[in-house]
Amino acid sequence: MVDWNAVFEQISAASGVPFSPQTTGSSIAGGCINRAQRVTDGARDFFVKTNDSAKLQMFEAELAGLAEIAATGTLRVPSPLCAGLAGNAAFLVMEYIQPGRPRRGGAALAGRQLAAMHRHTQPQFGWYRDNTIGSTPQANRQCADWPEFWAQQRLGFQLALAARNGYTGPLQRRGEKLLSEFPALLEHAPVPSLLHGDLWGGNMAFDGQGNPLIFDPAVYYGDREADLAMTELFGGFARDFYAGYREAWPLVAGYPERKVLYNLYHILNHLNLFGAGYLSQAQHMIDSLLAAVR
Ligand code: ADP
Repeated sequence: MVDWNAVFEQISAASGVPFSPQTTGSSIAGGCINRAQRVTDGARDFFVKTNDSAKLQMFEAELAGLAEIAATGTLRVPSPLCAGLAGNAAFLVMEYIQPGRPRRGGAALAGRQLAAMHRHTQPQFGWYRDNTIGSTPQANRQCADWPEFWAQQRLGFQLALAARNGYTGPLQRRGEKLLSEFPALLEHAPVPSLLHGDLWGGNMAFDGQGNPLIFDPAVYYGDREADLAMTELFGGFARDFYAGYREAWPLVAGYPERKVLYNLYHILNHLNLFGAGYLSQAQHMIDSLLAAVR
């Protein structure tokens, strides 16, 4: 159970202003992993995620990811406030942002702002800390070699997890072959860009002024195409979004094949999180990539 008084005390301490709402607020639907509440004292509004205490590190990493994106001053994210333990629960507190409708040109602006966020780079791929993708651990050990990073810390990690989850057989055989052959598809030498990392349609919205907003990042520094690829995996992004992005930072040749390679990571993660419904899609993607390598 969440000890809400402990949450409110930690909000007061982190913000430097006493926070004592009368109720624990209203639930917000839509998340895949955590419980979410909006809590307000009438003056300030916070969005609070809660989960089992074992998820504290996950929330600390999300807090750090929101801070990393906020520091760029590009795409708006909820301002992170604090994470901690309260009762036998872990919690994460950020600014509550009232969603709204996109303003005129809002989708193109989102594309341009994403490109501006991707212009924030660091020398190596990865990040200074690990985090999670959904609730799956995501390793971000820093590495100068992008194909090696993608092979080991993205596809290799998920394939090994799939084997532990019982998905042995053709998926593993074809997957191992792909790991040894796909670097041929990654010969375009991307820069390590700051990525949202989990940019499906449910994690982008517009605020009350109609400006773009992103939630729930799984931050690391990687090929910017990995973010764009994910926007195309489940859809929901307007054509103007892509036009805005390309206007700010055009894409380079070879993206269509790399897109499949990047989205394979998320499909393997879905296989591991949600089950065998994703198995044939994962196998089909691996086969089409192996065909493209030749
Ligand atoms: P989960 O970690 O469980 O996947 P999300 O971070 O995706 O949860 O949040 C679930 C939903 O709650 C989002 O899709 C969004 O609609 C809404 N949401 C997330 N963060 C905020 C926020 N700071 N203010 C208002 N609504 C939010």
